[in-house]
Formats: sequence, C-alpha cells, structure tokens
Amino acid sequence: MRKPIIAGNWKMHKTVAEGLAFMDAIKPEVSGTDVEVLVCAPFTLLPSLVEAAKGTNIKIGAQNMHYEDHGAFTGEVSADMLLDIGVTHVIIGHSERRQYFAETDETVNLKTRKALSKGLTPVVCCGESLEQREAGETKTVCKTQIVKAFENISLADASKVVVAYEPIWAIGTGKTSSSKDANDVIAYIREVLAALYSTEVSEEIRIQYGGSVKPANVEEIMNETDIDGALVGGASLEADSFVQLVNF
Ligand code: PGA
Repeated sequence: MRKPIIAGNWKMHKTVAEGLAFMDAIKPEVSGTDVEVLVCAPFTLLPSLVEAAKGTNIKIGAQNMHYEDHGAFTGEVSADMLLDIGVTHVIIGHSERRQYFAETDETVNLKTRKALSKGLTPVVCCGESLEQREAGETKTVCKTQIVKAFENISLADASKVVVAYEPIWAIGTGKTSSSKDANDVIAYIREVLAALYSTEVSEEIRIQYGGSVKPANVEEIMNETDIDGALVGGASLEADSFVQLVNF
C-alpha cells in the first residue's frame, strides 16, 4: 500500500549544468516507474531542477532548511523560500548535519514541524553510529531519535513524514547493513511509531533505508517487507546508476 520512494541525496555535488544534464538523461528512463522519484540537491541547483522537472514524475527536494520563518540567520534558508521556488521535499537531520553542523534531536523536531506546517514533505533521518551498534544500542538510539523527531506532531501530519533509517557506519563506506538487519530496525521503528500514534498510522508512514545503496543491492533491499525505499548518496550522482535504482 505504501508507495516506495527512491531518493537521491547529492550532498555537496554538481553545478547547475551538471544537474540539468542529469535531469535530461533520467527523464525518459524513469517516466514509467511506479515508485516516487526524488532528487535532493544543493540550494543553488534547486530553481533550475524544479523547472526541469515540470511535467515529469520527478520531485525535487532540499537537503536542509531552518526552522524559523525569517530573521538574522546568516547562510540559512527557510521553508517559505523553498516553497517559493517549487520545492516539495526536504531532508531533515541527516547524520552529516547532526555530526558537522550541530543539529540535535530538538532542531530536527523543530524543522520537521515547520516543514509540515508549511506543506513540505520532510524526509527525517535517524540511525546509529558504529560504536552504538557495537554496544547493542541501535534500537534505543533510533527510538530516542524518532520519539523526539515526532514530538508534537499530530496524528494527521505524522503519516506525511518520510523516515530514512541510515546507519552512520554504512554511509559512504560501501558497507551496507544486511537487508535483513535493516528491515528489522525499520520494523522496530514502525513499532515505535505505532506506539506513538496507532498501528494504522504506522502502516502508512514510509521508511526508507540509506547507506551504500547501489544498483547491485537495491532489489534485495526493496524486497524486504518493511523497507519502503532508499535514500542514496554516492550511487545517485550518475544518471545511469540512479535510473537503475529507480527501476530496480
Ligand atoms: P551513500 O549515502 O549512499 O553514499 O552511502 C547515503 C546518504 O548519506 O544519504
């Protein structure tokens, strides 16, 4: 019932010209898919990509936003600014932002609430570090992150959130969580959401896996019962590879 969502996270890569060439290449190749196709790009590319995606099934997302509407926040971009240019999705709380840009469970919650209040779809990231995994804390860490991220989010809004489970040790390392392990954690996240809301709502929320997803492992991952898509960094940068991910 849940529509899978395959999302590229370009991180700090690509010029406008490179982004547009990518769009030209993927457009005809992904038009027949049943999955939701999302490309999350750096701010500078967003207006051009939104324009290029018009009339296609490709959605364009940002990789971050601020939780305030405006003000003295040098270097930041608001939800309204993203909506103004036609962006529909925004990644929130990626582990790189938590690690390098001091994002906390609290800012993740504030941003998620702001995105929802404005009608942007948040892609909320959670996931444990290697140290936490080795200490057997994977589920506790994910539970804490999810409970906090969804604080004060209504039942009606909860099902609009996309969650991305991304174990930090699997990001950009070539090490993927086994699809079975990833599915277990994702099924557990769904239990946490069921306890917060209801089984019905938890069954509606899409939960992606992220961390070294590539054409060679995407099918196995997508075949798992609870995994509803992938958030992909490295393998989303080349058009060929992204097309293969979408058409798994
Ligand atoms: P990766 O990145 O696919 O390069 O591991 C995933 C992510 O950080 O979203």
